[in-house]
Amino acid sequence: LVARMRAFGTTIFSEMSALAVRTGSINLGQGFPDTDGPAAMLERAAAAIREGANQYPPGPGVPDLRQAVSEHRKACYGLDYDPDGEILVTVGATEAIAASILALCEPGDEVIAFEPYYDSYAAAIALAGAVLRPVTLRPVEGRFTFDPAELRAAVGPRTRAILVNSPHNPTGTVLTRAELEEIALLCREHDLVAVTDEVYEHLTFDGVEHIPPATLPGMRERTVMISSAGKTFSVTGWKTGWVCGPSPLVRAVQTVKQFLTFTASAPWQLAVAHALRHEMEWVSGQRAALQAKRDRLTAGLSAAGFEVYRPSGTYFVQTDIRPLGFTDGLTLARELPDLAGVVAIPTQVFYADPGRGSHFVRFAFCKKEEVIDEAVARLGRLA
Ligand code: PMP
Ligand code: GLN
Repeated sequence: LVARMRAFGTTIFSEMSALAVRTGSINLGQGFPDTDGPAAMLERAAAAIREGANQYPPGPGVPDLRQAVSEHRKACYGLDYDPDGEILVTVGATEAIAASILALCEPGDEVIAFEPYYDSYAAAIALAGAVLRPVTLRPVEGRFTFDPAELRAAVGPRTRAILVNSPHNPTGTVLTRAELEEIALLCREHDLVAVTDEVYEHLTFDGVEHIPPATLPGMRERTVMISSAGKTFSVTGWKTGWVCGPSPLVRAVQTVKQFLTFTASAPWQLAVAHALRHEMEWVSGQRAALQAKRDRLTAGLSAAGFEVYRPSGTYFVQTDIRPLGFTDGLTLARELPDLAGVVAIPTQVFYADPGRGSHFVRFAFCKKEEVIDEAVARLGRLA
């Protein structure tokens, strides 16, 4: 293995899901729903296979999906993206993130990312030979946010891009307009590209709305906006995502994408095009159901003795384990199957220096109510 990848080993999601299977524990670790997406969308994928959508689609993606994404960006956010040249279908958001970093960063360039960050960011930056500059999100009155002065101090002459994830995994923070304006100001001042991971764009609660950074002044022309059907339509196994941006940036990402996968699988693309046009009501229902599940899990975790950071978006809840007498999340996560028959994610692995996040553990609530209830009952044994 090349030196720049040696620190990465096996991802925490693989480790913890394997642990859940091995021990028969309830898996509130890796974020995937335990129910299917909308039935008509599933049927559309099956029909696409029967009808022969089984060969390579065009490199940028099936035209019908690019058209549907364009209409959807317009309807949701008032953003105009040309399906021919400004939209690229990818193998999930993961490929979009990696291809964007590889396309935009020279070796030695710096990329700012808010930590805790989704684990693929650090790996993609390392693959590119670029350098990660973390800016730490910290809890202020129960909500994780950044210090604008720290963000400003992270920008230097080699800074090329900033990775922005909102709604944010794992903290559940949905960045406010004021926070996004801080970021946009720096992007404009220092001519940075924003790579925005918006995979949880539709999973927000309590009336909080997601604001795409590209909608801020001067940002559309410098933003690579990334989405994924996996989260929106509960099909994480379909690995279908997309990038929207100005054509020079999308062309750059596509140049790299060609040699990673060339194109993404065809049947899912047709089904996701259907879903973007016809299943947003299903998504609204899903959002309401998830909010109720959030309330169920956060109440249960609080009762079990965790300090809980109530998320405004995503399907994760970040907790502090210290009130229960634990200090190291990785140790606790590895022991949790024995202690309580539950699996969770230690979020220290999302920090450049794990010490900064050693006391946090993340639980997923995209699970059936009875599963959440059973997990909470089991976690009650920890106190
Ligand atoms: N970004 C974030 C913040 C995520 O939580 C995930 C899902 N684990 C991804 C990207 C990857 O999405 P996909 O499965 O579409 O590659
Ligand atoms: N995005 C999901 C999570 O954060 C799963 C990621 C993965 O398995 N790579 O749990």
